[in-house]
Amino acid sequence: MAYGFDTLQIHAGARPDPATGARQTPIYQTTAYVFRDSDHAAALFNLQEVGFIYSRLTNPTVAVLQERVAALEGGQGAVACSSGHAAQILALFPLMSPGDNVVVSNRLYGGTVTQMSHTIKRFGWEARFVDIDKSGDISKACDRRTKAIFCESIANPGGHVANLPKVAKVADKQGVPLIVDNTSATPYLCRPIEQGATLVVHSTTKYLTGNGTVTGGVIVDSGNFDWSASDKFPSLSQPEPAYHGLKFHETFGPLAFTLHGHAVGLRDLGMTMSPMGAFQTLMGIETLSLRMEKHVANAKTIATWLEGHPKVMEVTYAGLKSSPYYRQGRKICPKGAGALFTFRLKGGYNACVKFVDALELFSHVANLGDARSLVIHSASTTHRQLTDEQRKLAGADSDVVRLSIGIEDPDDLIADLEQALKQAKR
Ligand SMILES: *Cc1c(COP(=O)(O)O)cnc(C)c1O
Repeated sequence: MAYGFDTLQIHAGARPDPATGARQTPIYQTTAYVFRDSDHAAALFNLQEVGFIYSRLTNPTVAVLQERVAALEGGQGAVACSSGHAAQILALFPLMSPGDNVVVSNRLYGGTVTQMSHTIKRFGWEARFVDIDKSGDISKACDRRTKAIFCESIANPGGHVANLPKVAKVADKQGVPLIVDNTSATPYLCRPIEQGATLVVHSTTKYLTGNGTVTGGVIVDSGNFDWSASDKFPSLSQPEPAYHGLKFHETFGPLAFTLHGHAVGLRDLGMTMSPMGAFQTLMGIETLSLRMEKHVANAKTIATWLEGHPKVMEVTYAGLKSSPYYRQGRKICPKGAGALFTFRLKGGYNACVKFVDALELFSHVANLGDARSLVIHSASTTHRQLTDEQRKLAGADSDVVRLSIGIEDPDDLIADLEQALKQAKR
């Protein structure tokens, strides 16, 4: 029998430690693992036997986290890594060669816009930005060298919800995988694989860990994509020269992407998650559903209150009936539209800065998805490197404030917002 979400978030991937019986997952703070003998070592290096060689590739604590997130997302396997941005690079790495492109939504986390529009060019990769609501535009942007389509389920920070089944249909037609960044929604609120995604990436830094302690990332593979259906994905379908001619898809089937991620991606790019980081994220995931329920309930209460405030022009939360994404949100994220939203403050840039400085309970930080409530003025911080047009598209104009609602008492949060809104006027 398949376990439910609340059971999986505590048990998936973990078993009592075979050496000691320890019930909680130990932190395997080791770099290397003793081979039984030379034949064992050779079998491990040939990928003929599953096991641990060196912690840049795999580690038992990290492996539990990988299995757990894969189970929560309904995937076949996962690759954990050092940050959400590392996850995005490691997701594209097996798919892309110099000269290839990825078609991406123009509504993305600010750091992702920068990574995609500038940094990946150095690898000879190109990102083509499109309005992900328009299937025709996505198709038009695709060509022979397109290797993936990338979007966020709930886009950070503008409260945009992507119509995943519709985007997946376009990806299917183009013969490329759909990669969904599910950071803001988490698998509790949204399950992209059930809606047609091939790969799901996360910044585990956010809700999965849930208390702002470690950076991390993970890529989950659905195992559903046929990498050998075309000649588009030679790293997975053709002999891999960095593994004496091994064909990953032919050899490992639905685990091809995951094992390539460990055996080539992590081995050669080295964006590895530490065992301590994996342990802390595992602790967070044990209470994910409980926290997300409270995050969503608080976000709804506060967004509704702000919408009625005379100093507030607009609240972009997909959980509000006034949002153009309300109905889509109910379909794509049936358990709630997350706890991250923006609002526009009368008085523009200066009022926003005053408001942020006046808050006491909310912390002014460049983070989201923490148990404590956070605030940021995106235009002067996270989205500072973007052009005016990119900022507008990302929903981060100069009069926009972003809130990441925590799990405190909603009355206390509202009282803090109220006193800060009063001070923003002066
Ligand atoms: C934070 C974030 C990232 C980047 O993750 P890091 O762990 O900070 O590298 C990517 N996508 C979204 C939606 C995020 O919120």
